[in-house]
Amino acid sequence: THVLQIKNLHVSVGDKPILRGVNLSINHGETHALMGPNGSGKSTLGLAIMGHPGYAVTEGAITMDGEDVLAMAPDERARSGIFLAFQRPMAIPGVKMADFLRHATTNVRRPDRKEGEELIPMREFRAELKEKMAHLRMDTEFARRYVNDGFSGGEMKRAEILQLAMLQPKFAILDETDSGLDADAVRLASESIAEIGHGKMGLLIITHHDKLLEHNPPEFTHVMLGGRLVETGGTELADELHRHGYDRIRKAYPEAE
Ligand code: ADP
Ligand code: MG
Ligand code: MG
Repeated sequence: THVLQIKNLHVSVGDKPILRGVNLSINHGETHALMGPNGSGKSTLGLAIMGHPGYAVTEGAITMDGEDVLAMAPDERARSGIFLAFQRPMAIPGVKMADFLRHATTNVRRPDRKEGEELIPMREFRAELKEKMAHLRMDTEFARRYVNDGFSGGEMKRAEILQLAMLQPKFAILDETDSGLDADAVRLASESIAEIGHGKMGLLIITHHDKLLEHNPPEFTHVMLGGRLVETGGTELADELHRHGYDRIRKAYPEAE
């Protein structure tokens, strides 16, 4: 089985240390919730795992199945089956969703493919995309739009879920994939993720709401404070934090912030 391991991870933005020794191990098929107050470093962890150039690893290790993830370029990380649904997805004007997805899907399914080599056949890809979009109750017109260009907050999140469905990564980090959605959209997103991902990949779900975790119950809940995971528990910890917030955590770990 696949395992993503993060050991003593320290990450800086510029010369500001953000993550200060994160340890986390995710097995394929497990769901982990990552919670914590705003600014505690949750998104930084996701971006560091994907190799965002602005987030420098100054100490520690990330491995997938024993392979050194930190030695891989961001696109290699994606090809090897690690996926990040960004809290703030980027627009790619001029690139249609369908073309973007065909490239990304080919790269994940044929990780050794060289630039310029053939993509998965158009008819095959179209059929699969159509089926997945119907399943997610998405209008096929959506695939003809430019990636995230002028998308509403909700549409961006739906686009990320479509990527998740097409790419079927080994590990997926969902960074507030439920934020900015209305109640119906949150339910639909939660159900889609449960169907596509829960138990089928390693999931790291960053969320402030309970709906996503209700549909995707985590085996583990981690609390980040000041760039460290200060507590780990089960679903009951997520429930407590949803209900009562972070006062208890802040009082228990005054040195963390
Ligand atoms: P969270 O996702 O938990 O809300 P973030 O990882 O976004 O937290 O941010 C953690 C800290 O790192 C915050 O103080 C934030 O301002 C800082 N930070 C993150 N990314 C950047 C960046 N690109 N430039 C400057 N500061 C950043
Ligand atoms: Mg935040
Ligand atoms: Mg964040």
